[in-house]
Amino acid sequence: MNMNSQEKIIEPLLFEKSVPDRAGIPLPASDVPVTLEESHFPASYQRKTPCEWPELSEPQVVRHFTRLSQLNYSIDTHFYPLGSCTMKHNPKVNERLVLLPDFVNLHPLRPHVLSQGILEILFQTEKWLCELCGMDAFTLQPSAGAQGELTGILVGRAYHESRGEKRPVVLIPDSAHGTNPASVAVAGLSVVTVKSTDQGHVDVEDLKAKLNKEVALIMMTVPSTLGLFEPRMAEIAKTVHEAGALVYMDGANLNALVGLVKPGDIGVDILHVNVHKTFSTPHGGGGPGAGPVGVKKHLEDFLPVPRVIKDKDVYRRSLNYPKSIGRVHGFQGNIGVLLRAYCYMRLQGLEGFREMSESAILSANYLRAKLKTLFPKMSKEYCMHEVVVSGEGAFGPGIRTLDVAKRLLDYGFYAPTIYFPLIVPEAMMIEPTENETKETLDSFCQAMEKIIEESKNEPDKLKSAPLTTPVRRLDEVKAARQLNLKYTVNSNL
Ligand SMILES: *Cc1c(COP(=O)(O)O)cnc(C)c1O
Repeated sequence: MNMNSQEKIIEPLLFEKSVPDRAGIPLPASDVPVTLEESHFPASYQRKTPCEWPELSEPQVVRHFTRLSQLNYSIDTHFYPLGSCTMKHNPKVNERLVLLPDFVNLHPLRPHVLSQGILEILFQTEKWLCELCGMDAFTLQPSAGAQGELTGILVGRAYHESRGEKRPVVLIPDSAHGTNPASVAVAGLSVVTVKSTDQGHVDVEDLKAKLNKEVALIMMTVPSTLGLFEPRMAEIAKTVHEAGALVYMDGANLNALVGLVKPGDIGVDILHVNVHKTFSTPHGGGGPGAGPVGVKKHLEDFLPVPRVIKDKDVYRRSLNYPKSIGRVHGFQGNIGVLLRAYCYMRLQGLEGFREMSESAILSANYLRAKLKTLFPKMSKEYCMHEVVVSGEGAFGPGIRTLDVAKRLLDYGFYAPTIYFPLIVPEAMMIEPTENETKETLDSFCQAMEKIIEESKNEPDKLKSAPLTTPVRRLDEVKAARQLNLKYTVNSNL
């Protein structure tokens, strides 16, 4: 293999960068017993008495954990219509594929000549995302949608700085997900909020009034968090570009667009994609995830390094992007998650994605049509992949959306997202995804109808719901104010 000079630089660099992460603590060889004195725990943290190990037989342990796993509410056991979060089916075949020994035994420090297969897969994954989103380049490094946002904003900021412009402001519609303003703050910029119209679309007049030379970018969520397509998107993009700013698309809801609309074709310069919402990877309880970021050509040089490149027939990791914002994750990102997304892309194919999005939209509109009679304030507009309903005027006196959501658990349904988006009073955000059958959607609507009846005739039942779950209603305010994360096995410890 022809090792050029760039290669000699990259591989040792990766190695050197990973070592200081261990905070300078020398790791003992695994066969050397570590005494308490040798360990680096301060004496005050060291236990004074030996640990009491539980004396249990194997069947007892297996039964305990099996029972625990069955108490869990999951997409494998129940319908999970959690709006905005897209709890879609995670194909089991993906799990089998990523557990193949050739993937499991990969080491990120292996030189590129011995990692051609995985580098090719990462390269192809970026190409798939470029094709599906109409973008020119992608980075797979960010480990969640929110980190993708931060990466995208930093790319936008670097772009403006490279042109000698200081633009400290980001415009965000008031319906946006909370991570949007948080990411802007982390990137060191400030937020100006753009109003929504009564129909829940971006108020373009308000946007125009707030657009000026200070604005670096606008973060548009498409479809919006109300599950609606932004009808004036092209006009918004044109106006924003004319003001010298960039259009960032929060692509968390790409589940409704992929195969139908390419964000790059509707004026988007930067977007992030949530692979756990669109490409069937598990949510993973807060991580590890992946939130790839795509950009148009004029922003490509600012993407994080190292980037996977194809040099003749050899895949390499290149640091040769002097304008890059740098590294946002170790190595190339959470490869185990990206692999699952890659499997899903290969399974779907371009045509499959179109069908997927159409089914997601059809399912949501089916729910919308069936629930219309129950929720008097239902929007007149067709929705995309999720339907947002307002509980206002729908339930018996004193009953709130929270009570209805809790009661759904008793009927065997996970509760939809509630009280989001913030601009809809008593909101309930229902996302069926493309994977559920008509029978499931029908039984969900039936449960909703029964619960609304109960809210009028047996309100006490709703106030104390859920009645059948292992853990009953929690005092959420107390839990937030007096957070106690200590797990105690027995009270003597
Ligand atoms: C889920 C979501 C995010 C955040 O993504 P994470 O992967 O959870 O960090 C951002 N914006 C929207 C609209 C979302 O639905």
